[in-house]
Amino acid sequence: MSATELKKDVTQYARSLGFERVGIASAEPLKREEAFLKQWIAEGRAGDMDYLEREPERRSRPTDLLPGAKSVIALAMCYAAPQPSPEERGRQSSREAEGRIARYANGRDYHKVIGKKLEAFTRYLEALSSGVQYKTFVDTGPLLERAFAQRAGLGFIGKNTMLITKGLGSWVFLANVVTTLDVPPDAPDDRSCGECRLCIDACPTQAITAPFTLDARRCIAYLTIEQEGPTDQELRGRTEGWIFGCDICQEVCPHNARSSAGGATLPLAEILAISDDDKFHARFAGTPLIRAGRRGLLRNACLAAANLGRHDLVPQLEKLSRQDPHAVVREQAAWALQRLR
Ligand code: SF4
Repeated sequence: MSATELKKDVTQYARSLGFERVGIASAEPLKREEAFLKQWIAEGRAGDMDYLEREPERRSRPTDLLPGAKSVIALAMCYAAPQPSPEERGRQSSREAEGRIARYANGRDYHKVIGKKLEAFTRYLEALSSGVQYKTFVDTGPLLERAFAQRAGLGFIGKNTMLITKGLGSWVFLANVVTTLDVPPDAPDDRSCGECRLCIDACPTQAITAPFTLDARRCIAYLTIEQEGPTDQELRGRTEGWIFGCDICQEVCPHNARSSAGGATLPLAEILAISDDDKFHARFAGTPLIRAGRRGLLRNACLAAANLGRHDLVPQLEKLSRQDPHAVVREQAAWALQRLR
């Protein structure tokens, strides 16, 4: 099979699995991105995400992850819902004072959904070329996935640090397959944001401190998911209604306009009523929200209740401030009560 035929076959099979964008990058190290990551970590911008500090070099060097790697196959799948109907829009506005969750988190855990497709894809690679080796990455592995996707021509990196694909914007799940298969690479996507800075100006916590520079410690996605302790006093009043993740810097992006359907919400009263870890697991097992844990989700819901002016939730907040087993929930419930009063 010629190199061109190999590439066509690989691309077609990935598309048949539901990956709407497919591109190939060489497995050469990403030198510029490696230097940027090291600097970012040295400045302490990773917050509690100390896993990022372990061997940052490996993230930009696929051959350190898989000796003999030749190519990185970058795959993207859209998760934006279609534009809502007028009835759905009406229901959304009635949920405006509820807890917001990032769109990617609305449904089953995407690691599992994409993981199954990658299993099929790698079985196909094995059938295609005996002895082929590969490693797959879906967000959790030590690889600079967005940078390799940019090199593979899937999209460009926006000032909000997201990968912005052609047509689907940044509402995409990314996956990468590092492999010893030598597939001809695509040209990198060399588009850019130009003069736009909508995401920088829209971020309520000013987490995008400069174009392409995100201070994770201020990012609502980090504060509501990764951070373990209480939310910084300065930022509590600025997380709006977000209780898991945040989409603001994507919602304002003009490249997302065509597929910017409304996001998902959860009733704050329901979250605040989850009384123990077993009930939390029963409600959220198999979804991305499990990552925040009951403690994190209730902490976030307390702040959202205050930020949204939900006086009707005062009785629930009072109970939590007195008797929740976690100090962080008691403290943030007390803060919310103070704000509401
Ligand atoms: Fe780039 Fe503007 Fe989109 Fe931000 S909002 S990522 S500056 S195009």
